[in-house]
Amino acid sequence: MAEKVKVGFLLLGGCAGCEMAVVDLSEKLVDALEHLDVVFWAPTAADVKYNDLEAMEDGYIDVAFIDGMVRLDEHIHMANVMRRKAKTVIAFGVCASLGGTAGMGSLYDKEELFEKAFKNTPTTDNPDNVFPQPECLVDGKYHLTLPKYEEKVRTLNQIIDVDYYIGGCPPHHSHVGAAVGALLSGNLPPKGSWITNGKAVCDICKRNPAGKENGGRFKVQQIKRTVDGVPDEDICLLQQGYICFGPITQGDCGGSCINVNIPCRGCGGPMPGVKDYGAQALTSIGSILQNDSVAGELMEKYPNLAKFFYRYALPSGTLAKRM
Ligand code: SF4
Ligand code: SF4
Ligand code: SF4
Repeated sequence: MAEKVKVGFLLLGGCAGCEMAVVDLSEKLVDALEHLDVVFWAPTAADVKYNDLEAMEDGYIDVAFIDGMVRLDEHIHMANVMRRKAKTVIAFGVCASLGGTAGMGSLYDKEELFEKAFKNTPTTDNPDNVFPQPECLVDGKYHLTLPKYEEKVRTLNQIIDVDYYIGGCPPHHSHVGAAVGALLSGNLPPKGSWITNGKAVCDICKRNPAGKENGGRFKVQQIKRTVDGVPDEDICLLQQGYICFGPITQGDCGGSCINVNIPCRGCGGPMPGVKDYGAQALTSIGSILQNDSVAGELMEKYPNLAKFFYRYALPSGTLAKRM
């Protein structure tokens, strides 16, 4: 039997949902494990310590899946260690690839975030203004440290060299299965590519009006939010006024949100070749609004357009470089 492919999983700043997508493979995972040897999975699944990774020979791991964004000095350190230990590194999920929803934290400075999290919420009682410190001495003898909080969120490729990218928050388990299959067969795209079927959510959406009788798109004439009503399940959401990012988002999820009558919010990541998801989203959506009045309605209903268009991708875009 051929030698098994050694894989490692490392979670940085994220919720571990990407790794749950691996578990969601269920019986397919059992089949895959005939060919895979999971040698590291931290801190989510296995009781291994960071030293265990540092002790491995460089290049020992064949493929590393790294999920989560980069916010702490610990993330930077561990990403660099994993880069040395792994022959191939995959930015796994939209946090690692583009910064994810936590990337919106980069719209605020560190002090504002700490004030909000540890003082200015209705349920926080902190009269002495106690904030987390990277180092402290307890009882005059115990020297404790916490990882240092970096100024901004960064994507994995802003820290280390990344070989491939997988979108999704989390990636759909069927797409994870396809990616593992591609790895095992060696049928991978050129280095630096997204592992994707290359189709947009619109391409696989049964509501797509293109090609239908009396089909074709028309300009968006009003803006609705999902709280404004229940969308008609047979009509394109954009055409009803619900802003759907399906035209510009990789559809490897199979249209999970559209299938339950929710507009695509863009977690799949940009179509291959697009460097700045938020700028592309703004351009595409802006170009199909009927007139200035509808554009005004969009700004009224979504007052923070940076968060709206860069919901999953702020740290990866040009906007973040200018802040
Ligand atoms: S991409 Fe989504 S599921 Fe994955 S770690 Fe980030 S927040 Fe969690
Ligand atoms: S815009 Fe949304 S609802 Fe309309 S066809 Fe594309 S994915 Fe489907
Ligand atoms: S429809 Fe869009 S937001 Fe929903 S899972 Fe797919 S890519 Fe993500």
